[in-house]
Amino acid sequence: MGEHQSRNPEWGFATRAIHVGQEPDPVTGATVPPIHPTSTYTQASPGKHKGYEYSRSGNPTRVGLERCLAALEGGARGAAFASGSAATAAVFATLSPGDKVVAYSDVYGGTFRLLKRVFEGFGLVPVFTDETSPAAFARLIDSRTKLVWLESPTNPLLRCLDIAAIAEHTHRAGAKLAVDNTFATPALQLPIALGADYVVHSTTKYIGGHSDVIGGAVITRDEPLMERLAFLQNAMGGVPGPFDCFLQHRGIKTLAIRMERHCANALAIARHLKGHAKLARVVYPFLEDHPDNALAKKQMCGGGGIVTIVFKDRGGDRGDRASALRFCESVRVFSLAESLGGVESLVNHPAIMTHASIPKEVRESRGITDGLVRLSVGIEDVVDLLADLEQALDKA
Ligand SMILES: *Cc1c(COP(=O)(O)O)cnc(C)c1O
Repeated sequence: MGEHQSRNPEWGFATRAIHVGQEPDPVTGATVPPIHPTSTYTQASPGKHKGYEYSRSGNPTRVGLERCLAALEGGARGAAFASGSAATAAVFATLSPGDKVVAYSDVYGGTFRLLKRVFEGFGLVPVFTDETSPAAFARLIDSRTKLVWLESPTNPLLRCLDIAAIAEHTHRAGAKLAVDNTFATPALQLPIALGADYVVHSTTKYIGGHSDVIGGAVITRDEPLMERLAFLQNAMGGVPGPFDCFLQHRGIKTLAIRMERHCANALAIARHLKGHAKLARVVYPFLEDHPDNALAKKQMCGGGGIVTIVFKDRGGDRGDRASALRFCESVRVFSLAESLGGVESLVNHPAIMTHASIPKEVRESRGITDGLVRLSVGIEDVVDLLADLEQALDKA
């Protein structure tokens, strides 16, 4: 363990993804370390143990995953949770009544719900900006602000927020910046290097990568913050089981190569669909006409695996909603399903599915219309994906 750990910083991303926290088992030599399904640990004498006492407070399979995630994000330590939502809740739980939280209004729906319907009741003061600019954040950040929360790219409009600039405004006020890096992953974007204090993940998505597990994580480079998070992880108890940790860690080993293919397929699809007669818009951060293209290219090394398309309103039964629904019903390689980030391609109709809880007027004012469809582009052969999209567009 010691030798591997001391070599970490020299390793490239893919090497860290495959080796950190995956050292051969010292007892048997097993190249892939065993899963540890145990709740407790046998002690030699009261208080004399090997670093583990009870699996809510620590489990070797979980620790391996946490070390790997920290190494990928450039953090000192990580804490794994049973879901992205549990990880998000743990960050909010570091705050105290009266603390102000500044966030972009179009954050993940579950994050908005946690702030408004859970933590506001415990005295946090959430404030939201409808604008993505650092200046808009600066206007809301004041001496009561303790946390700034952002996602980049956002869901489903893929707006990019300037992490470095917002980090500067945040730190000037003495607050901490948390970045939900679920959409980009550390393969494409490193928020801690850009100034973030916390990185949060729904590992359910690209990190796990196979649509077969729910999980979350928080990573930070700040030791006092990590102490507090580790305390909350144990105290609140929202920990993942060892089998789930194993699945996530197994997924991570191919993260670098998966993200390369997600990005290549998504860019090819975005370029192919752009200008299609039935589409009003094709949204992808690495397309030149994306409103945040320059920023995206500056802070990410790939455009990600999500492409958002908006159908034209051609009237009657060829309205944008009707076209979008026919398209969603007609795909064959893509599956119509919520979630994203797995190896298989998915389509999602946010207005009816993932974003249905947002009132229609609010949704539409944010550009999430009934003609909008989100594609989570998988890593299948791109020719098959393009052919599938073409035949579904014909029917739309
Ligand atoms: C899915 C998601 C979450 C919530 O994660 P769960 O694992 O579903 O609890 C948070 N943020 C983003 C950006 C997500 O996509």
